[in-house]
Amino acid sequence: ERGRLSRLRHTPAITMDGQKIELLANIELPDDAAAALKAGAVGVGLFRSEFLFMGRRGKLPDEEEQYQAYKRAVEGMEGLPVTIRTVDVGADKPLDDTKRDEAHLNPALGLRAIRWSLADPAMFLTQLRAILRAAAHGQVNLLIPMLAHASEIRHTLSLIDFARAELDNRGVVYGPVKLGAMIEIPAAALTLKIFLKYFDFLSVGTNDLIQYTLAIDRADESVAHLYDPLHPAVLRLVADTIAECHAQGKSVSVCGEMAGDITLTRLLLGMGLRSFSMHPAQILAVKQEVLRSDVSRLTPWARKVLESEDPAATLAA
Ligand code: PEP
Ligand code: MG
Repeated sequence: ERGRLSRLRHTPAITMDGQKIELLANIELPDDAAAALKAGAVGVGLFRSEFLFMGRRGKLPDEEEQYQAYKRAVEGMEGLPVTIRTVDVGADKPLDDTKRDEAHLNPALGLRAIRWSLADPAMFLTQLRAILRAAAHGQVNLLIPMLAHASEIRHTLSLIDFARAELDNRGVVYGPVKLGAMIEIPAAALTLKIFLKYFDFLSVGTNDLIQYTLAIDRADESVAHLYDPLHPAVLRLVADTIAECHAQGKSVSVCGEMAGDITLTRLLLGMGLRSFSMHPAQILAVKQEVLRSDVSRLTPWARKVLESEDPAATLAA
């Protein structure tokens, strides 16, 4: 099966009725770009930059180290776009830094991701400068995780402006970036207009969106059976996000595990999704599903699944 799939590497991801679908890779380290290209990804939809920050025993990467890492990912993708997400540590991705990482009562609801970055502006500005500098070497999109509140959006955007001003003052070269937000907290999905006002693109993080919608810790085995991507509430938030983005002419992708699950490809296509970002190992299998799909027929079917009391059953029927 792998050998057969690998023949699809250079085949464009186009549905039977001619819809072009963008299949992107999720990567954790710059060298993963090679696997992304090998799998036929047309870009990186999610570079989880926190992997540069984890396991460092308190000594976080400085601007130069980060710049080199982001530049390596950008150059590794040979001109294809790379979406770099600012650090998302905390909860399921703890730093081992004892000073910052004191036991929190409820880390998934605590100081993680953009909250952690905004709490330490010097650290955040260092990362922003490194990403902006890497953007001089290729197409870079800057993605912000875990935003919920308009004030966090404005605070983040003002720090991005400040990082540019710092580079200007230093006379350092940097490039343009498109700005994106993760939609992974229900509050964000329910206030999409605010996000669409400030950002060029959105990326739906279904891993956390499921966790926060259903109040199920994504890392807790004892409730894993209740972690349900097909819960009608989850599907409603994902479908509405896709529809609202398209209505506003903004690009939207899904970068959570749902995007790489071949049992969900047709449903996401039917909801209107045209951009999927996933582990490189899933790309060719998802492409095969895309090639077999007829979106014009999937659209009414997806509506039925969405309105169903038991979407999993409707999906399987
Ligand atoms: C997500 O939450 O779906 C996501 C892609 O981010 P992460 O898994 O890194 O939290
Ligand atoms: Mg997430």
